[in-house]
Amino acid sequence: MSKPQPPVNKNETIELTFEDLTHEGNGVGKVNGYPLFVPYALPGEKAQVKVVKVKKNFGFGILLDVKEASQERVDPPCDVYEKCGGCQLQHMSYKMQLDMKQKQVKDAMHKIGHLSHVPVHPTIGMEDPWRYRNKVQIPVGETEEGGLKAGFYRKRSHDIIDMDTCVIQDEHNDRMVEAVRRIAEKYSIEPYKEENHRGVLRHIMVRTGQTTGDIMVVIITKTKKLPHQEAIVQEIRDTFPNVKSIIHNVNNKRTNVIMGDQTNILWGDKYIVDTIGDIRFNISPKSFYQVNPTQTKALYDQALQYANLKGHETVVDAYCGIGTISLFLAKQAKKVLGVEIVAPAVDDAKKNAKLNNIENAEFYVGEAESLLPWWQSQGLRPDVIVVDPPRKGCDESLLNAMIQMQPEKIVYVSCNPSTLARDLRILEDGGFETQEVQPVDMFPQTGHVECVSHLRRKNNNSDGRLS
Ligand code: SAH
Repeated sequence: MSKPQPPVNKNETIELTFEDLTHEGNGVGKVNGYPLFVPYALPGEKAQVKVVKVKKNFGFGILLDVKEASQERVDPPCDVYEKCGGCQLQHMSYKMQLDMKQKQVKDAMHKIGHLSHVPVHPTIGMEDPWRYRNKVQIPVGETEEGGLKAGFYRKRSHDIIDMDTCVIQDEHNDRMVEAVRRIAEKYSIEPYKEENHRGVLRHIMVRTGQTTGDIMVVIITKTKKLPHQEAIVQEIRDTFPNVKSIIHNVNNKRTNVIMGDQTNILWGDKYIVDTIGDIRFNISPKSFYQVNPTQTKALYDQALQYANLKGHETVVDAYCGIGTISLFLAKQAKKVLGVEIVAPAVDDAKKNAKLNNIENAEFYVGEAESLLPWWQSQGLRPDVIVVDPPRKGCDESLLNAMIQMQPEKIVYVSCNPSTLARDLRILEDGGFETQEVQPVDMFPQTGHVECVSHLRRKNNNSDGRLS
């Protein structure tokens, strides 16, 4: 039997009705059962679409003209929304974004974890889902007239878009980037060119402490020296009296990694301060720090509520970064043990514990998947284990150690619903019961969703078997 041919041809223009959304936010419409994925199309819409890619079982199209618009369609406020790769959901009402994220988590729980019965709550959104990011790292290039431009890369490329503002950035960051661009242009600082690895100015990084108003700017150059250093520093200080830290970082490698190994303080402090809840954090140029502190607070409050600490517990916080969750938990636990693979992050975690007079949190450098099994073999039996792994989820040896340690509760924080659902299945099979999952919108206007979930150990029978 010959294979059925796809019912559409490349470059053909068709009219399509959309019925669904992918997790990336693309509209899905079908032609005789053959799905076409179309960015910026919404369910319920009818539109003209140009078919641009035809594969055996599915194809891709681009949206030409919306004939019947969804009520959830909104005008994206960003001028470069469709060019820039940063946001995917600005054309969708915020309510729809939150619903879509909840559904994404539900689907993963159902299809991957076979956990359809577990409640997945409505996504906790932001009151104002704009200008939430506290950190920007922006590449610098040359305009056609020979000036400097600072902007994000065009989707799937390294062309720099000339842009004035990024609507999900803290306004201070936007204004600082623009000021540094203008000042660097005034002093004829050459932009770095990836093609021939020549030039000077590579990136401008700005971070703002949203609760303190502290601003740090990092100027990243290929060259060891930043030309006109003193004049540039003075002009930045004149423009931004509340700048706290002006830093120069040298990156002379051919790499996509933004910062290099050498960091010089040009003026001010070597870190800025921010607070989440009543905990203070010193943030150095290279420290990992959550980019949306408002929602981080919502996420941690939920984690804390799930942990339900009474003060006598030993808690393990695996993948602890600079100790953000650990320090939140420490105030209500007997002891917290944090594990993190990046040594400087552990140094920061220790400093942050001191800064907050927290004495019952200890931090260790290592792989969570190695350290927990070792602790388990040494007889450590934590009451609560918190994990917050990167996108690939937890390693199986870590999950096994967690199962062996038999904590009362596990709090699993995740930035990837698919690996979360996979790992919850393993923990369920190992004797835990997932109580609920709470999605939190840490990255409005983008397709990312963060979750916190709560597991309890099933009761042991008298013969030691799990019931
Ligand atoms: N809980 C922290 C950080 C979460 S990000 C916060 O909320 O701020 C995930 C962290 O896991 C990163 O800091 C990363 O460096 C760390 N990590 C990645 N792989 C790891 C591993 N195998 N073992 C321990 N930590 C790891």
